[in-house]
Amino acid sequence: MNSPLWQAVLGEIELSVSRGNYITWFKNTQLVQQTDELVIIGVPNIFIKQQLEKKFNSIFVETLKKNGVTPEKIEYKIVATESRKSTETEPILSHESKTVITQQKVIANTISQSYRQGLNERYTFDNFIVGSGNELAFAACQSIAANPGFRYNPLLLYGGVGIGKTHLIQAVGNAILLNNPDAKVLYITTEQFVQEFVEALRFRKTNDFATHYRTADVLIVDDIQFIAGKEKIQEEFFHTFNALHQANKQIILSSDRLPKDIPTLEERLQSRFAWGMSIDMQNPDFETRCAIVQIKAQVNEIYLPNDVVEFLATNIQTNVRELEGALNQLLAFCEMRSLTPNLDIAASVLGSNRSRPKHLSAKQIIERTAKHFQVPLEDIMGPKRDKDIVVPRQIAMYILRSELHLSFPKIARELGRKDHTTAIHSVEKIERESQIDSSLRTAIAEIKERLYA
Ligand code: ADP
Ligand code: MG
Repeated sequence: MNSPLWQAVLGEIELSVSRGNYITWFKNTQLVQQTDELVIIGVPNIFIKQQLEKKFNSIFVETLKKNGVTPEKIEYKIVATESRKSTETEPILSHESKTVITQQKVIANTISQSYRQGLNERYTFDNFIVGSGNELAFAACQSIAANPGFRYNPLLLYGGVGIGKTHLIQAVGNAILLNNPDAKVLYITTEQFVQEFVEALRFRKTNDFATHYRTADVLIVDDIQFIAGKEKIQEEFFHTFNALHQANKQIILSSDRLPKDIPTLEERLQSRFAWGMSIDMQNPDFETRCAIVQIKAQVNEIYLPNDVVEFLATNIQTNVRELEGALNQLLAFCEMRSLTPNLDIAASVLGSNRSRPKHLSAKQIIERTAKHFQVPLEDIMGPKRDKDIVVPRQIAMYILRSELHLSFPKIARELGRKDHTTAIHSVEKIERESQIDSSLRTAIAEIKERLYA
């Protein structure tokens, strides 16, 4: 259990940073030691340690000060996972002792074995990195795990391949089982669902099939777009959906697109899928991609220098699955030859079949953004405050941050400004708005595409 001081500090930080930042960087910290000279903050891993030291130290200094603590020095220390407090997904357990949690896990693994259908334990909230692009989906999934069948029903996550849909929807199932080992959680891909149904028809067991799915507490159906064009299945699924929904049982779906864009999806299903909450998942930004690479390397107990991490995150922008694949390729190469990964090796292993990172300059980004919105460069750089100039300026700042990783003062200078707080606000604003505004996202994606073309 965290000390009252630390609870107060985290509580304040939670209010002052974005949710994604809070969950990724702050949530799992703890107070290890506190004297007049020194405060030691416990962190789960080297990457979080580096980020806190580099980027967030001042937040701790200020927040501690607000709470009457003004040490001469703050240090960050990596502490073992077991001693950290349990995660948000285990609200009932978080104030219990460690042994209770372990016992619960054992029970979850045994009793519910027959219900742990299709779920892979590898997918948890703990090993999912939260950042732009998946923040909202993550929050909704956590909320469902804490309270299934209650708020977002059905939940639909949609987005391109390899960006973590399966990971998140399975994590919900695993978390629910952890809290309630007796819950009947069913995970199934749409293809399996179709196949089982066809078999049930063949062996005249459609009643068993229907009962099996209609008595679930939580039904998770992955890649629902594959239901397109299959009338009988759609009919069956319609009844399953209704039975579960009426009984307040949780339904979680994933799809590569919105239901309205799935061809030949019956209208009644389309409308039902839209009853709850649909959340669009995007490929994470540079910072999040770095965090993913670092943490995956760490799971393999390999330390990757920052330049290698950044090389991977810069070069593999398609999706997380490819990013993971590239990392594994690099690690395997190094392991077989007993090499320590470095930038040269990364470039030679991954560079050969991928385009080399294009060296982008701040100037190119600003010019490209101005051009995209057809505003004169001198206006973007100048003092005008008209909306049609301010927004492109903010977007340019956002791209400078996400692609070049520039500091806020530097971003301000690149745009001819003195005050860097405007840059901070601009980047945050675009980050926030791009989550809900798809035309903004498209604009950013188009600008980036041209930049890297
Ligand atoms: P999708 O279902 O959207 O095609 P997956 O859930 O299968 O994508 O994700 C592809 C791979 O990337 C998986 O191994 C998953 O664990 C990993 N992954 C995706 N997003 C994240 C993330 N934010 N943090 C950690 N791993 C991730
Ligand atoms: Mg998937």
